[in-house]
Amino acid sequence: MKAKKLRVDIITIFPEMVEPYMSGSILGRGQKAKALDLRVHQLRKWTHDNHKTVDDKPFGGGPGMVMKIAPFHEALVSLKLRTKDGKKTAAAKKTRVIVTSAKGKPFTQQEAVRLAKYDQLVFLCGRYEGIDERVTEYLADEEFSIGPYVLTGGELPAMVMADAVARLIPGVLGKAESLARESHTVAGELEHAQYTRPEFYPLKGKKGWKVPDILLSGNHKKIEEWRKSKPR
Ligand code: SAM
Repeated sequence: MKAKKLRVDIITIFPEMVEPYMSGSILGRGQKAKALDLRVHQLRKWTHDNHKTVDDKPFGGGPGMVMKIAPFHEALVSLKLRTKDGKKTAAAKKTRVIVTSAKGKPFTQQEAVRLAKYDQLVFLCGRYEGIDERVTEYLADEEFSIGPYVLTGGELPAMVMADAVARLIPGVLGKAESLARESHTVAGELEHAQYTRPEFYPLKGKKGWKVPDILLSGNHKKIEEWRKSKPR
């Protein structure tokens, strides 16, 4: 059976903010292991004026600027996911186009597990007052928020979601069992508390902080019971 490989495309006006994260640490290792193919694109590449304009004033008035639909549509055409007349291509079948938005549905571990089943995820990063609503309505498959607060741009949300999905792809994490009993694998359930050496962390004077005795007992049955009864 062909090994699963996830492709992620992040479309942003600040690729330099995103690239180092995508090539570093575990995500970088996932790329070397050919489990991930992570690509970051400059949205301005899909503009046609001298200033490479991606935003304009909001219809109906109001403060700030709104990101235009055309560069996002052209980006998706160039990725062969949408046609020039706005339709989905055959290649878009196993792809999700995700618009980052403070108004979107909450991103959860269960959504990460669902998204990990696709072959390709494309994240559209907003800036300014946000993105022309037609992008969400006609070009995106999903609109996600990473929490009930407003950030300056969609780059951090795209990286957060890409990271949460990428680590579920076989070959990205060193040990697959790391995934088995993590916090949020079952909605609302948290992992037990973890400790490592030293057993006793000495503080100034005679005080110090100890690891729970049960974890040093070698009694695996009791340790398992303790872990189940002691989620953080
Ligand atoms: N005017 C928008 C509102 O009130 O909902 C906020 C726009 S925000 C300054 C600019 C961009 O940051 C958004 O288009 C979105 O891409 C991103 N963003 C901000 N907060 C976010 C969140 N909690 N989750 C996902 N994306 C977010």
